[in-house]
Amino acid sequence: MTAQRSNDQLTQWDHDHFFHPSTHLGQFARREVGNRIVQTAEGVHITDREGRSSLDAFAGLYCVNVGYGRPEIAEAIAEQARELAYYHSYVGHGTEASIALSRMIAERAPEGLNHVYYGMSGSDANETNIKLVWYYNNILGRPEKKKIISRWRGYHGSGLMTGSLTGLELFHKKFDLPLSQVIHTEAPYYFRREDRALSEAAFSAECAEKLEALIQREGPDTIAAFIGEPVLGTGGIVPPPEGYWDAIQKVLRKHDILLIADEVVTGFGRLGTMMGSDHYGLKPDLITIAKGLTSAYAPLSGSIVSDRMWEVLERGTDEFGAIGHGWTYSAHPIGAAAGVANLKLLDSLDLVSNAGEVGGYLNRAMAEALGDHANVGEIRGEGMLCAVELVKDRDDRVFFEAADKVAPRIVAKMLDLGVIARAMPQGDIIGFAPPFSLTHAQAEEVVAATKAAVADVLG
Ligand code: PMP
Repeated sequence: MTAQRSNDQLTQWDHDHFFHPSTHLGQFARREVGNRIVQTAEGVHITDREGRSSLDAFAGLYCVNVGYGRPEIAEAIAEQARELAYYHSYVGHGTEASIALSRMIAERAPEGLNHVYYGMSGSDANETNIKLVWYYNNILGRPEKKKIISRWRGYHGSGLMTGSLTGLELFHKKFDLPLSQVIHTEAPYYFRREDRALSEAAFSAECAEKLEALIQREGPDTIAAFIGEPVLGTGGIVPPPEGYWDAIQKVLRKHDILLIADEVVTGFGRLGTMMGSDHYGLKPDLITIAKGLTSAYAPLSGSIVSDRMWEVLERGTDEFGAIGHGWTYSAHPIGAAAGVANLKLLDSLDLVSNAGEVGGYLNRAMAEALGDHANVGEIRGEGMLCAVELVKDRDDRVFFEAADKVAPRIVAKMLDLGVIARAMPQGDIIGFAPPFSLTHAQAEEVVAATKAAVADVLG
């Protein structure tokens, strides 16, 4: 959009009228935290109205996977908007884009997952998933099998059900969440394990034992599904410890509990492989996709449904009529056109391999630059995901107080140095999730800014 109004005018209206998500409203109103009016973006850089450019090492909210300013996607959106901006997809309606995209997703999904239900956000896709799980168990005549197990530190959205699934205190506090159908189990967070003598494999076995104990306590016949991200994202960017998913899936299979793999972050390449489920050997019944499906050029999400569940859902509609679940914007043509163009670009530019290659380089370079710092507890990552966790005392693993605001101060300093990283919401964790097009030189720039900012704040 061309600049038509002064920054001062916009800033005034911003404070008067714009209710920003995930924002401290009081601090914003008092202008203790400033606004940033972003205007343009190209590659891995965003530029604001003051003319400041930043290297976006978090790809927006880990979503602009192919990078900013791709004309191929912009043109696909414009062409779709001109030809057919909207039609619904109820009772058998669709567009070439929505049908072609369904085929492309099925080709990229793990074996046996071939049916896609579309939404607009990761949150609504997970709402759909839970409804499908309940519907499925009702059709199978198991009305008691309804509870959903999620992990502490999991992130699955901000809705009523999905905010409940999310295992972060901030998303529950003062919202009367979690809802009663949701229970949480141990996070697979090896660095923060209680018993520091445990090996990774022993810790994974302990997570599975805790899950088993929880299921026994609640009653296996009351548990419908388990939801998890292949790599914990917003909860701290934590790859699973060795053997974790095998141990967990064994417990789930034993009790006939469905697995929902939330691949909103990991889907379509972020781990250097097309899907995180394939990366870690998950055999899910449902997969949540969003962000990387369109690289956020348009809002679109999806629930990929397994053939096994599909067969029961189909049977259910024969018995009870059309499925009573629909969004106006399900499979929105503009989102679908963006999705098709985005997935084509991932292939033609080999961006998934680049995510693995340059992401690995970023992780190694970060470890080399900061691994010995007295306040760096752990540097971890997978593919184009990386996290630096800061501690007060590394030998005794003592954490800083939240009031010290260590991670937010480091991230603010990094911004001054021209690099955007994210202070993850729980703990002092600096998160990185750059676009897949990141170059080696840009990875070095990110590492240098992190090193300088850590030195500035912690010495
Ligand atoms: N699941 C995961 C794993 C996510 O990371 C997110 C968003 N960060 C969501 C679900 C929710 O997606 P949305 O914000 O689009 O509703």
